[in-house]
Amino acid sequence: MSTKKMIIDFKKISQEMNKLLAEKSDKSRVTEILTKARELRGLEDSEVLALLQIGESEVELLQQLYHTASFVKEEIYGNRLVLFAPMYISNLCNNECLYCAFRSSNKQLHRVALNQEEIAKETQTLIAQGHKRILLVTGESYGQEGLNYIFRSIETIYAQKEAKGNIRRINVNIAPLQEEEFKLLAKYPIGTYQLFQETYHQESYRKLHLKGAKANYDFRLQTMDRALHAGLHDVGIGVLFGLYDWRYEMLAMLAHVRHLEAEFGVGPHTISVPRIEPAHNSKLSERPPYEVSDSDFKKIIAVLRLAVPYTGIILSTRESAQMRRDAFALGISQISAGSKTNPGGYGSASPGNHFCEEQFSLGDHRELAEVILDMVHLGYIPSFCTGCYRLGRVGADFMDLAKPGAIKEHCMPNALFTFAEYLYDFAPRGSELFMSGLSLIEKILKEKIANPALVQNIQSELVKIANGNRDIYW
Ligand code: SAM
Ligand code: SF4
Repeated sequence: MSTKKMIIDFKKISQEMNKLLAEKSDKSRVTEILTKARELRGLEDSEVLALLQIGESEVELLQQLYHTASFVKEEIYGNRLVLFAPMYISNLCNNECLYCAFRSSNKQLHRVALNQEEIAKETQTLIAQGHKRILLVTGESYGQEGLNYIFRSIETIYAQKEAKGNIRRINVNIAPLQEEEFKLLAKYPIGTYQLFQETYHQESYRKLHLKGAKANYDFRLQTMDRALHAGLHDVGIGVLFGLYDWRYEMLAMLAHVRHLEAEFGVGPHTISVPRIEPAHNSKLSERPPYEVSDSDFKKIIAVLRLAVPYTGIILSTRESAQMRRDAFALGISQISAGSKTNPGGYGSASPGNHFCEEQFSLGDHRELAEVILDMVHLGYIPSFCTGCYRLGRVGADFMDLAKPGAIKEHCMPNALFTFAEYLYDFAPRGSELFMSGLSLIEKILKEKIANPALVQNIQSELVKIANGNRDIYW
């Protein structure tokens, strides 16, 4: 079977895209669709199209869209946001992606593959900041050790046990593997395997990826099929917005979602929405061919939230603090914080390895603690929860809970437990963060959890945490 038939009907996407460009939004139909979206069952392609047609100047309709997206996010996940840190362990790469500083022709870049000792130190630094979840990231080449380098690095990260905790979940964003290699990866306790198609538009893809394994569009598009066939449970997809028209990308990415749902009974665990940022020595990254405006970017997030309500949406520190604040309300459920995108960026590279450029420049440079305080002021519970993955609520089991909105009953208590842990272990007693964090927990218990028995159970776990118990999850 050809990829075209198997995953995405490109002709249909082009036709839909033309329709989208030619027609204006229909106000009463939009209202109808937004009412349906509140049922949390997702949207059909034609409904997604109708929402994407809302124009930048249709302020009232956009506001309705945003309100509905916040409602859906709150219903499914509550007002918690999961936090993680990316760890770049290597910038070696055989590929030639024109937007990326790590591309092989960038001879100005200092190349680094951290050794296991350095990876251990990076991990310790992140643990000392309060992190519990890491996204392991590399360029697409692992030196002489091959894939074993990744496996050893996963072991090293999990092996770091510090006085203030350890890393409890590693997600990975590494090169697409063959099915046999995915079977090896599946033996390691990783959470989500993440990979972005970058652009679903084949011609643009060809022009932007000039060399190496990544030049093969079909191989990349079929990656999640190989991963799921090989036994991985959770996969995360994404588009690098700015490479081609975002409308096309949205329609194609949703077609990819439908394909995974139909083929494996489970859609992607997460969708990432990176926008291109300036990267060292990459002209293209400074002037992306299809730059996405802030207003369109918000629409992308809100429509995704309605179209696939049960899927986590990830926003990175590529975006500014203000854009991140705006986006939280539109349906983001996971964010990175305090990130560095160069190997050894958390300060642990050996002497001589210190200077190496970031993969791209960041929009939000704040430390984890600052981001957390900001979230608390906005009323969001920072969560370091790893409960689902550690209790085996993965793949279809997770979706079965997420789809009817029942996952919130785990997410909220676990978010409160991990946030309380963070406050006791990392926020100075009496500090603004400590005090306002504890009052937010109380407020959530009072205002957001209706069942008194549940409130009581949560409170008794919180007392245990205050008394020094750690790693409580349901
Ligand atoms: N090398 C692997 C790959 O390309 O899939 C995995 C890691 S790569 C470092 C992670 C992601 O960074 C890429 O998938 C791409 O979407 C993103 N990226 C690359 N250059 C970027 C840029 N200039 N701005 C924002 N994101 C970028
Ligand atoms: Fe290499 Fe990934 Fe950068 Fe492409 S995006 S050059 S594959 S690190």
